[in-house]
Amino acid sequence: MEPMEPVIGLEIHAQLNTRTKLFCSCATDFGAQPNTNICEICTGQPGALPRMNKRALELAAKAGLALGSHVNQVSLFSRKNYFYPDLPNGFQTSQLDPPICQGGELAITTASGAQKIVHLNRIHLEDDAGKCIHDEKRGISLIDLNRAGTPLIEIVTEPELSGSFEAVGFLKKLHSLLVRLGVTKGRMEEGEFRCDVNISLKPVGSAVLGVRGEIKNLNSFKFVGQAIDYEIQRQTALYERGQKVLQETLHFDSAKGQTRSLRSKEEAHDYRYFPQPDLPPVQVSDELLERLKGELPDPPEKILDRLVSLGLRPENGRLLLERTDAVEYFDRALGFYNEPVKVFSVMEEFFLPACHKENIGPFESLFGPEKLASLAKLMADGILGRRKVQELFSDFFTKGLDPQKELAGHAQIKDDGELMGIIKEVVSSHPKESEKYKKGEKKILSFLVGLVMKQSQGRAEPKKASELLKDYLTGKA
Ligand SMILES: [Zn+2]
Repeated sequence: MEPMEPVIGLEIHAQLNTRTKLFCSCATDFGAQPNTNICEICTGQPGALPRMNKRALELAAKAGLALGSHVNQVSLFSRKNYFYPDLPNGFQTSQLDPPICQGGELAITTASGAQKIVHLNRIHLEDDAGKCIHDEKRGISLIDLNRAGTPLIEIVTEPELSGSFEAVGFLKKLHSLLVRLGVTKGRMEEGEFRCDVNISLKPVGSAVLGVRGEIKNLNSFKFVGQAIDYEIQRQTALYERGQKVLQETLHFDSAKGQTRSLRSKEEAHDYRYFPQPDLPPVQVSDELLERLKGELPDPPEKILDRLVSLGLRPENGRLLLERTDAVEYFDRALGFYNEPVKVFSVMEEFFLPACHKENIGPFESLFGPEKLASLAKLMADGILGRRKVQELFSDFFTKGLDPQKELAGHAQIKDDGELMGIIKEVVSSHPKESEKYKKGEKKILSFLVGLVMKQSQGRAEPKKASELLKDYLTGKA
C-alpha cells in the first residue's frame, strides 16, 4: 500500500455570549427548569415571526474580524429543513449563501514547532436545536426546548489539518481567542464550544481527497484528539485490507475510545435549503464595522512593540505571540517578578517546550505564572543553577510544584558540619567583608548569608546560616 496521510477539516459551533436567543427574547440560561425559557417563536408556533438579535450579529462579525475574515455587509438566512423531535420549526434557521463572514485564517504551531496558517472557509450564524432526553428506565423520551433558538456561529475550516496535534492546537487557540473577545463563554461541558471533525486519508502528495468520515459533536479537546487518532487508525486498517472507507457520519464513544457509524451517505439528509422568508437580509453597517474594529484587542505588531520595550528581542516577542496565551501568561508572571528578560528566558528554555510537548496551553498547565516567576527569581539569585533546573523542571511542571517550597523542603542541609564547611569557604574567599563584620559593620552579615545561600544552591536555611556565620566570625564556633 502506498503511504497515506490524513486530511482534517473542522466545523466548530460556538454559542454566542448573548442574554437572549437569536430570534426571540427568551433567556439563554443553561440549567433552567426544562421548557421554562420558551415562547411562541422558539417553539415554532404557526404565525410567530422571528426578530433578529442585534448582539448576536455583532459578536459574529467581531469573530470574523478577529480571524481576518471578510465580513459581508449583507447576508441571508436560509431554512435548513430536516425533521427531528427537538426541532420544533421543522427547519433550522442557518445561512447558506452568502454567510456573514467568508475566508479568514488562524496560525498554529505544528508538532515540529513550525508555524502553519490554517484557512477558514466561512463563519455563519444559526440557531441551536432543543434537546431530547431519553429516559430508559421509564421507556420514554422527553423534549426540552430551552436551548432551541440559542444563537451559534459555525466556523468551517478548509481541510488543512494533518493530525490530532494540529487539530487540537487549532481548537485551543480558537477557543482562547473567542473567549477573550467575549464572543462566547466557551464552557465546553455545557456544549458552548463543540466541533465536528471531517477526516479522510489520501496518498502522500496527492491533491485528491479520499472518502471522509464525519465525527459529530465532540465537546472536549481530549475527545477530539482521541477520536482523530482512532479514526486515522480505523481508516488506515481498511485501506490496508483493501476495503473501502464509506462516507458516513460517526459518533465517538468516549468510554470505549472508538467511533461508530450513525448513518451512511445514503441515509444522509437532503436539507432542501431555501431562503427564510420571515427574516430580512442581515445588514452590517459601516459604522458598526468601524466600531467593532475599534473593540478588537491590540494587533500583534502593537503587542510586539510593547514586548520589545520591556527589553525582549523581537524574535523572543514573536515566539510568545505565536504560542496560544503565552503573552498573557508572561504578563501574569511579571506581576509576581518584574524582570521581563529573566522570566522570558525560563519560559523559552523550560516552560514553553514542556507545554508544546503536552500540546497544552500555558494556563492548562499546573505550573502557574506565580511558580514560574518564583523559579526565574531563584535562578536569577543564583540559588538554582541551570543544570539543577534541567534535572528538576519536569517534576515541577507535571506536578505543579512551587520551586521555592520544594527547595525549602527536602533539599535542605540538615548537617551543621556541611553548612559550616560552606561558611568557612565563603569567609576565606571574602576576607575584606569578614573583617568589616568583625570591626562592627553588622549590616554586611546579610551579604555573607546571601553568599552562603548561593553556594549551597539554596539548600541552607537562612536563619541557621546567619547564626552559624555569626558564631564563626566572632570566634564562638
Ligand atoms: Zn423564545
